[in-house]
Amino acid sequence: MRIPVVALVGRPNVGKSTLFNRLLRRRQAVVDDTPGVTRDRHVGLTEWGGRSFYIIDTGGWDPAAREGIEARIAAQVGEALGECDAVLFLTDAREGLQPGDEEISRALRRLPAAPAVLLLVNKADSDRWETHGHEFHALGWDDTLAISAMDGRGLGEALDQLLTHLPAGGSMRAPAEGIRVAILGRPNVGKSSLTNRLIGKERVIVDERPGTTRDAIDVLWRWQGRTFWLIDTAGIRHRWGHLPGFEFYASLRSVRALDRSDVAILLIDASQKLSRQDQRIASIVEESGLPALVLVNKWDLVAKSTNTMRRHATELRRALSFLDYAPVLYVSALTGQRLSKIAPEIVKLYAESRRRVPTRELNDVLREAIQRNPPRGGRGRRPPKILYATQVRTGPPLIVLFTRRGERIGDAYRRYLARRFREAFGFAGSPLRLRVREAGRRGR
Ligand code: GDP
Ligand code: GDP
Repeated sequence: MRIPVVALVGRPNVGKSTLFNRLLRRRQAVVDDTPGVTRDRHVGLTEWGGRSFYIIDTGGWDPAAREGIEARIAAQVGEALGECDAVLFLTDAREGLQPGDEEISRALRRLPAAPAVLLLVNKADSDRWETHGHEFHALGWDDTLAISAMDGRGLGEALDQLLTHLPAGGSMRAPAEGIRVAILGRPNVGKSSLTNRLIGKERVIVDERPGTTRDAIDVLWRWQGRTFWLIDTAGIRHRWGHLPGFEFYASLRSVRALDRSDVAILLIDASQKLSRQDQRIASIVEESGLPALVLVNKWDLVAKSTNTMRRHATELRRALSFLDYAPVLYVSALTGQRLSKIAPEIVKLYAESRRRVPTRELNDVLREAIQRNPPRGGRGRRPPKILYATQVRTGPPLIVLFTRRGERIGDAYRRYLARRFREAFGFAGSPLRLRVREAGRRGR
């Protein structure tokens, strides 16, 4: 199922980050979330009414930029916006309608792909402000709603409305045979080099389906009778890549590439310090739920002594702790070092991500884990009573834990259970998600 993408646009200070953070906080119950890891986010996966969508914050988009690099950015972001399924256009009830709002409104109307646009008049914390919203009807968007990103007022209604504009979720993944592999990483880590090296000389460029952008090219790779499609996002590279707005653009392309893939490869440059951009891309990979393989490329450039690799691995794990389930290979696209290990690894990760554990086996492990280390109740609460577990989904594996009254299970205990499940069943390379549900009266 393709996950829809929703973009957040608006002048500075209208409340985009506030809304973004609020929407992401809804997404809880993910066991691999590691507290303390700063993830400088522009994109996040969220859920409303049982449906998931990506939300992307466009940050510093200024459609009014007329010249120079800013104008080109504006054009790029504008073009990228055309690939979104819907746009949340944020304005500020307290400031009232501003020229900048009109500018953005016009830019949105010019988008050739014409995504659905919801105009949200933010900071309507009380009825008093809600009435201020009316002047925004002048912009002429049918869906104009007053909200407060800060306290959540009106947000439910706005999201319900948003859902009516999102595609129900047909599949864009190729029915074609083969494993689809997205190759992600910041500019210059070696994505093109790796792709070319893996496939040899004949670089076959295919796939003209809609949704395939010029920037992500699908390349056929055959290895020992198996077929892979490499989705190379090397095109996400522009001279003005460091400017605001670019992150949104790059994130969108990464999300789109992951959407069409079965396995994600994250490329890191061994010769450079790990950057925020690496972390950001890694967090997009984690959210996609795809099985992931980390390749530390340009290993040939690193002067090695006895412990070089171990030290690097420790540092990498710390910086990308939320991707701790992903295996790491130290490679060189230049010399070919260890490239032969990539295909077998992909095949394994793909198979593991589809693994479905029979409920009986799962519950044997659960019972044993609880016996060995029973959950405790925090802060005067009674310990949660975990009745049983079942795997409700593969790719990524999702295990639901049923408790009598839907009691919360602390993060540390979730991690413990996830670890036990992993030890027993593998799921190598895949994020393992645990969710808690109430068993209800019928739950035993
Ligand atoms: P951005 O620049 O569009 O990302 O805007 P921010 O999210 O940083 O918000 C700008 C300011 O508006 C901050 O001081 C927020 O606390 C405030 N703000 C955001 N949403 C609301 C809201 O619903 N009501 C009120 N009163 N203030 C808000
Ligand atoms: P992309 O932007 O991620 O597609 O990166 P490229 O594939 O264009 O590579 C960027 C630069 O890094 C080029 O000059 C490559 O020759 C170089 N490069 C790529 N892989 C390696 C490697 O494993 N070792 C070394 N030394 N250089 C590499």
